[in-house]
Amino acid sequence: MWISAWARHLQGPFLALTACCLAATTVGAAPVAADPPDLSRDVVQRLLQSDPTARLDAAGRLFFADRHTARLVGPEAPARAVAPLNETFSLHSRPRSKRVLYLDFDGERVCNTGWNRGDGGILGGLLTPTLPCGDYEGFKGATSHRLPSADLKAIQEVWARVSEDFAPFDIDVTTQRPKHSAIERAGSGDDRFGVHAVVTASTRARNATCGGPGCAGVAYVGVFPDAHANDQRILWAFSEEIGNNPRRLADVLSHEAGHTLGLLHDGGGGDGEYYGGHGIWGPIMGSGDRHLTQWSRGEYAGASQRQDDLAVIAKHGVQRIRDDHADGRRGASRLKRGQTAHGVITSSTDTDAFTLRTTCRSRVVLRARNAALGPNLDIRMTIRRPGARRAQVIDPLSSASGKAGGLDATWRGKARPGTWLVTLAGTGARDPGSTGYSRYGSLGQFTLKASGRCVRR
Ligand SMILES: [Zn+2]
Repeated sequence: MWISAWARHLQGPFLALTACCLAATTVGAAPVAADPPDLSRDVVQRLLQSDPTARLDAAGRLFFADRHTARLVGPEAPARAVAPLNETFSLHSRPRSKRVLYLDFDGERVCNTGWNRGDGGILGGLLTPTLPCGDYEGFKGATSHRLPSADLKAIQEVWARVSEDFAPFDIDVTTQRPKHSAIERAGSGDDRFGVHAVVTASTRARNATCGGPGCAGVAYVGVFPDAHANDQRILWAFSEEIGNNPRRLADVLSHEAGHTLGLLHDGGGGDGEYYGGHGIWGPIMGSGDRHLTQWSRGEYAGASQRQDDLAVIAKHGVQRIRDDHADGRRGASRLKRGQTAHGVITSSTDTDAFTLRTTCRSRVVLRARNAALGPNLDIRMTIRRPGARRAQVIDPLSSASGKAGGLDATWRGKARPGTWLVTLAGTGARDPGSTGYSRYGSLGQFTLKASGRCVRR
């Protein structure tokens, strides 16, 4: 329906207006550090023609009104807390970062934003967002932090899953309200900024920003670093539309945040504007309905575009974090019995190295685990034992369908006393074109633990 509406209006005067205003607000803006990469008129026009979820607000600024395409998910495991419940609204993934993605679950007053500016006019063939200034309830209708414990657990799980999607990046995913100044960008000299994700049960907000039912979220495109886009820093996730399912809600939030970081849709492969994925894998900027969702560069067959998600995110002001462990034996982190090492695989060329010492010959177990909720990392563990001529690679093949399995790596065995070298990296599986995925988006958090009585403390 939207496509035909577009087609009717695309030749009209609206496009001229579009081009004018986009040029004024983004392309022709005063020079600022990390300016939003050029959303040229051509790119915008092509998008409006090819992607029915691309829309314009009253000022002609581009946003996506995302349909939810996935079948209704059946009952999944109950939501899991990752911290004490009284810390639900003070969770931070990188508290010292100068970039922020604020996940707001307790309702919000929204006035004077791009979403409020519509005058009932039509741009590009659709009504522009016309959200009345006012209070909008949060997750499950929340208006405060007093929520049933099941809802607090769901919020924690959503936060953990979104944090994992952004784990390779220098950004704080948080449930604690930041100061205004930590979200808005005052100018090119202001290096603290971010976006504000409002999770809401409000059908009024959904209808006014997105046009009606069937909408999972909305977000402006490429606004993250833009000092001229402070009224476009709110993105929305409509939690009732996806059954308040924590996994789906996290997928929507990462997807909408991705739009603010300049990402467009991973479509094609016969699935229209949202690629639905294959096997256990799907792209975050597709429909997200898979158990292993990753950033993508369109390596699957029939991809609608090959945008390099990781590079585009970095171009929009959110850099990769510095590597946390040395790549090889030199400078490797020491692993001791009874301790759990934590780390992040930050790129497809990152390896994180650990040494451990054994003092006698007895059984040793090495366990590398990825994130407990919504992992993006498929682990490949390489072990060089004392006295062993060759390194041994532990990389179980992940499951082909259903829930994601085989992403971890475990080694059990005996070895002579001495110094071990254990390195972890991301890995792919099968054919990224049709049945699997490459190393590209296989990034994320891990833990590593060595046990056995001979492992030195
Ligand atoms: Zn989208």
